[in-house]
Amino acid sequence: MSKSLRLILGDQLNHQHSWFQQVDPNIGYVLMEIRSETDYVTHHIQKVCAFFCAMRAFAQHLKDLGHTVHYFQLDQANNTHSFKGNIQLLVKEFVYTQIAYQEPDEYRLDQELAKLGSELGLPTEMVGSEHYYTSRQELAQFFKGKKTFLLESFYRAMRKKHNVLMQVNNEPVGDKWNFDADNRKPYDNKVPVPPIPNFAIDCTEIVQMLEKDGVKTMGSIPDNLLPHPITRAQSLKLLNLFVTEFLPWFGKYEDAMDTRFKQLFHSRFSFAMNVKLLSPMEVIEAVVRAYECQTIQIPLESVEGFIRQILGWREYMRGIYWLQMPEYATLNFLEHKRPLPSWFWTGETKMNCLKHSIGQSLDMAYAHHIQRLMIIGNFALLYGAHPDEVDAWYLGVYIDAIEWVEITNTRGMSQYADGGIVGSKPYVSSANYIQKMSNYCKGCYYNAKEKVGENACPFNSLYWHFYDRHQDKLAKNPRIGMAYVTLNKMNPTDREAIMKQAEKYIAGVEGL
Ligand SMILES: Cc1cc2nc3c(=O)[nH]c(=O)nc-3n(C[C@H](O)[C@H](O)[C@H](O)COP(=O)(O)OP(=O)(O)OC[C@H]3O[C@@H](n4cnc5c(N)ncnc54)[C@H](O)[C@@H]3O)c2cc1C
Ligand code: SF4
Repeated sequence: MSKSLRLILGDQLNHQHSWFQQVDPNIGYVLMEIRSETDYVTHHIQKVCAFFCAMRAFAQHLKDLGHTVHYFQLDQANNTHSFKGNIQLLVKEFVYTQIAYQEPDEYRLDQELAKLGSELGLPTEMVGSEHYYTSRQELAQFFKGKKTFLLESFYRAMRKKHNVLMQVNNEPVGDKWNFDADNRKPYDNKVPVPPIPNFAIDCTEIVQMLEKDGVKTMGSIPDNLLPHPITRAQSLKLLNLFVTEFLPWFGKYEDAMDTRFKQLFHSRFSFAMNVKLLSPMEVIEAVVRAYECQTIQIPLESVEGFIRQILGWREYMRGIYWLQMPEYATLNFLEHKRPLPSWFWTGETKMNCLKHSIGQSLDMAYAHHIQRLMIIGNFALLYGAHPDEVDAWYLGVYIDAIEWVEITNTRGMSQYADGGIVGSKPYVSSANYIQKMSNYCKGCYYNAKEKVGENACPFNSLYWHFYDRHQDKLAKNPRIGMAYVTLNKMNPTDREAIMKQAEKYIAGVEGL
């Protein structure tokens, strides 16, 4: 009689997957905590705890439904710490005759699992993960023959294809595809920010296990309590809360930053979605339902802006990843080479914007998009950090960091190391933008208005240094033309002083 062993990866905790809809005594499931996954990069302690807590809770859920579940804890004596080794143990002990796994989201695991069948000498099947709107290859097919990969055209096609926020005449609701211009307001204290939901999951047992086993981590987990949701019920609670209390203001304050509010009106869904506790469809359906039923007033700019992140950016990044890997992980268009300063691991810098954005990343393994892009990534790019270093930091620090969505955002959108595949120009700014969109500059040691001098904001001189040193690669880009017009019109003495200031800051980066 055939017996099947089905592997579930840590980011495949999909309650709605067809695998789990029927209990079959000839099917067993396996989940594993293994060192190859804890050690391929230094992860934030909250990230490791969140994955292990969520996996353990998911295994328990399957057992409660009556499924046969094998679970390897990290400190279990017979754990071989490899997918192949642990599967071999189970095949031998429980006489499994075939293996199945779901399509992995990471290239590294895709390659490893593709070899499983031949290595184990057993029939092996890969099935879909039943999570995304699009298949791995859909974006590649959509842009076939094109030289550029415009998010906007992909997003519009997805809106039409999945009939999301569309009118019967196939035009977008509100007669506009994009409300970005309405989504760029600084936080003005006019609406109260709801408190961040804290799920306070006790992770003492896992923290002790990681310490005992010598797993290297970064960041902290105050009182061993994890603030993030790790079960489907908690994720659904977060979804309901977001739709009623945060969504109405999401659009307006999407790009705002404020020292008092770490999440502002963002959702913090990324972990729950990336491990598939929440599906993108159910999130979008909940948002559209709330907009249509009008029990609370939700502006279209918030609804469209939010849907764009999920149906647009999230699916787009996944498609780019599968189109471009493995080469993508080696791209370094601007040939940046510097190591990240050590305060990326402590948050101890006099630059208030970075102190807060890095500090909260280390405290809670979370920062919202604009902090990741326009503060931390902006600095790393202006300074000239090696994209490998930047990738490793982002992949480690955030609870939602899985390579397919981390690398496309970091190496691509943020560091322009792909030379313009994801973004048509580098996301850089001087202090002007940061001052406009946040309250960081008010309490800062540096002066946002100054380019040179003792307390001049480093972002100002580094901004011009960046354009100056990359003139050969960037000057022809029509989207950056204005920056070069300004740079080349600068009085030569001023220009030289700015460059010297930037070089001083680069050389003394540890003391900034
Ligand atoms: C340098 C950099 C690195 C990033 N690394 C990651 C990462 O490792 N994992 C990750 O999930 N996201 C990453 N992002 C995208 C985005 O910043 C996070 O998804 C978001 O901040 C998570 O917080 P939230 O759930 O509150 O998001 P919200 O602002 O509430 O957005 C809702 C959802 O939209 C999706 N989303 C939003 N922006 C993006 C985007 N650019 N790409 C893909 N999905 C998006 C996410 O699933 C998010 O949960 C990164 C962005 C940058 C600039
Ligand atoms: S002055 Fe410069 S370093 Fe300080 S918070 Fe503003 S942008 Fe950041």
